[in-house]
Amino acid sequence: MAKRHLTRRQSWRIEKIQGERAARADRRADKAEQSLLGGDLGPEQNGLVIAHFGVQMDVEATDGANLGEVRRCYRRANLPALVTGDKVIWRADNQGSGVIVAQLPRQTELCRPDHRGQLKPVAANVDLLVIVFAPLPTPYANLIDRYLVAAEQAGLEPLLVMNKSDLLNPQQHLELLQWLKDYAALGYRVLSLSAGDGTGMEDLKATLKDRISVFVGQSGVGKSSLINVLLPGEDLRVGALSEQTGKGTHTTTTAKLFHFPAGGDLIDSPGIREFGLMHISQDELLDGFIEFRPYLGTCRFRDCRHQQEPGCALLGAVADGKIAKARMASYRHILSTLDAD
Ligand code: GDP
Ligand code: ZN
Repeated sequence: MAKRHLTRRQSWRIEKIQGERAARADRRADKAEQSLLGGDLGPEQNGLVIAHFGVQMDVEATDGANLGEVRRCYRRANLPALVTGDKVIWRADNQGSGVIVAQLPRQTELCRPDHRGQLKPVAANVDLLVIVFAPLPTPYANLIDRYLVAAEQAGLEPLLVMNKSDLLNPQQHLELLQWLKDYAALGYRVLSLSAGDGTGMEDLKATLKDRISVFVGQSGVGKSSLINVLLPGEDLRVGALSEQTGKGTHTTTTAKLFHFPAGGDLIDSPGIREFGLMHISQDELLDGFIEFRPYLGTCRFRDCRHQQEPGCALLGAVADGKIAKARMASYRHILSTLDAD
């Protein structure tokens, strides 16, 4: 056994040393902050990062006398990089800015590869993935299943939204509704609506209430149109936010958090709209098909690839009509694209 495991005592010591180091850094940062800002910091209060630009963040007060106020803040040097959606503890200074002093634990993280291909969080605490599709442009094969797997993997609840219902004749509508019902039968929430004529928009508003959502889907399905209806009058040009640095003003594309008037929040940026399935293993892919889960680990052979092995529990479930053939085909197709990566 080459792999070395730390004893509890060793990991406790390492944690303790790291804790002491963090505390020392804190004290240093504290001193720096106090002298930098003349010691005139307000009390600690809760906040929500609504936009991030490298070392600066826009923080909205979520309690305190200045509830709802937004301030451009710096974070303490010992804090990790923060992203839009992070919940923080911060203190206002007397010059219209503030200092973030702590990051609260994240419930979820939305990650994307950076320019070096390393996964980096781009938004925190998102809990609803709104997967938008439309009769036109026609969703390509497996698109919805790919998004569903991505949602399961990131720990987000998916919501399937079929936009442009106004484009369908009654016959087409019935066919698509049946298709949606199959997803609903798996336990997914589905909505058929139209940003164009307003059908079903109230249901969408009600579903988004009390959640932090992101909208994803192919270009042209109507994400901007939907968001414009949900956020009337809001300037969605997220790329137009500017960052003040020593070198001047830079325009940055950042994820921004918006409040829906009817309740709930949206985190949006061009990059976030491209959130999708990233490098995953076969096991993670299998786990992303929620109706497969009860059968996993019950095949006759432990290393079953679920292709044509005798005693395969998944193939058995397909034969019994417990798993839809289309979903099994979808799994196989996505698996073949993973192998090609
Ligand atoms: P995005 O690329 O996903 O942001 O899609 P857009 O919001 O830019 O919409 C693409 C096109 O679809 C635009 O021409 C919209 O006017 C149109 N569109 C959006 N929603 C609807 C709808 O509910 N019904 C119809 N008929 N057209 C829509
Ligand atoms: Zn099997």
